[in-house]
Amino acid sequence: MQLSPDQWGFPANDKPWIISGPCGAESAEQVMATALGVKASGAHAIRAGIWKPRTRPGSFEGMGEQALAWLREAGDASGLPVMVEVASAKHVEAALKNNINFIWLGARTTVNPFLVQEIADSLSGVDVPVFIKNPVNPDLALWIGAIERIERSGTNKIAAIHRGFSSYENSVYRNKPNWEIPIELKRKMPSIAMFCDPSHICGSPQLLGSVSQLALDLQFDGLMIESHCNPSEALSDKNQQLTPAELKVLIDSLNIRKAEFDCPVELSRLQDLRDVIDEIDFDLLNKMAERMNIARKIGQYKFLNNVAIYQSQRWAEIIESRTAVGEDKGLSPEFILKLYNMIHEESILQQTSQVKSEEEVPLKNLTKE
Ligand code: PEP
Ligand code: MN
Repeated sequence: MQLSPDQWGFPANDKPWIISGPCGAESAEQVMATALGVKASGAHAIRAGIWKPRTRPGSFEGMGEQALAWLREAGDASGLPVMVEVASAKHVEAALKNNINFIWLGARTTVNPFLVQEIADSLSGVDVPVFIKNPVNPDLALWIGAIERIERSGTNKIAAIHRGFSSYENSVYRNKPNWEIPIELKRKMPSIAMFCDPSHICGSPQLLGSVSQLALDLQFDGLMIESHCNPSEALSDKNQQLTPAELKVLIDSLNIRKAEFDCPVELSRLQDLRDVIDEIDFDLLNKMAERMNIARKIGQYKFLNNVAIYQSQRWAEIIESRTAVGEDKGLSPEFILKLYNMIHEESILQQTSQVKSEEEVPLKNLTKE
């Protein structure tokens, strides 16, 4: 059982809890100016990366231990708790030595059980709140596993941060939100407070407002938003950081859901589920468009090789395997058959359209010659 963040530093009556600050600490001045700025904008805690895990070598990798003192000073000046990302026992030790108030595990650490265990071991007998970001890949078990490892160190101040999941597919997001994953985590571990990091989900300020609002509508407890006193000069993640003034505009624009219906709990849960359904439907439509695209390619390929479009054996295999997988996931065979009949019908249409248009090309060419 975890203590709620209002028992370890966040104000009970001022939700959503806002954590803000730079992606990376760059100088004492930058940390101080950003911290005082976001405090004035309504933040409740200050974040800054000191050791930055970067995708490619040669990028800004953080200012290291010296920056812990800058963060501590900014915490003292603003009166807000300060937090850093840790990726090893050595980082934990340095952060605690510099009286950093909270720590967080980044997505590239949560993904690695060896590192998580090392950090968990270093936390035994230590009373510091720990935030755990989701792993980079959409793997709920890995996220839960990291939480459990930290929990077993005896820590009872754990919160989760949803920062989206990397994907090879094109997407409007830098990291796809897959909202069903944090929601399922919350269902399985209801005492874990859930924050959303819309900055790393969006990768730019454009969608920040709508993603933040959706997180609140999904009953997230707080937001972690990157900000910088001068974003265009930032040494990392410069495209997604807000100025403190922009942070205030964002916070002021958030619609905090009020209990305004007859049965607010039920109605709000219904809306949460509908929001997730919308996301899933857009995913379904994207996938369906991808599937039809491939079907058209198959149509061309069959035409080139002079092979019939309808392949009864393949169709029988599809129905059999999809029914088995669907049943395993609680979907009825009738539903699977109906669904795949529709998909198959459309797929054949799409394939046929390719054959027709391909057939016209050589004929036209022939007449030209
Ligand atoms: C960060 O918070 O700056 C960061 C590196 O985030 P993530 O671990 O989510 O990539
Ligand atoms: Mn960042």
